[in-house]
Amino acid sequence: VSASWAVEPDWERCIGSGSCAFTAPEVFDVDDSGAVQLVGPVIAGDPLVQLAVENCPTGALRLIQGGGA
Ligand code: SF4
Repeated sequence: VSASWAVEPDWERCIGSGSCAFTAPEVFDVDDSGAVQLVGPVIAGDPLVQLAVENCPTGALRLIQGGGA
């Protein structure tokens, strides 16, 4: 059984704090305009991704934990 994860950023909420990019730089980056970007694949079960989502100060990141096949 394999689950898939995805992250949906809400660019209306993101304030570009960079917290997510600091926590999980393989997945998140903040561009020059201060908007979060996904720069890498989200590995299902990655604790750093989960932490980054939970710690976003504005709740701009939504973690979608897809069910497995
Ligand atoms: S932690 Fe949240 S507010 Fe900060 S850059 Fe990431 S998505 Fe944006």
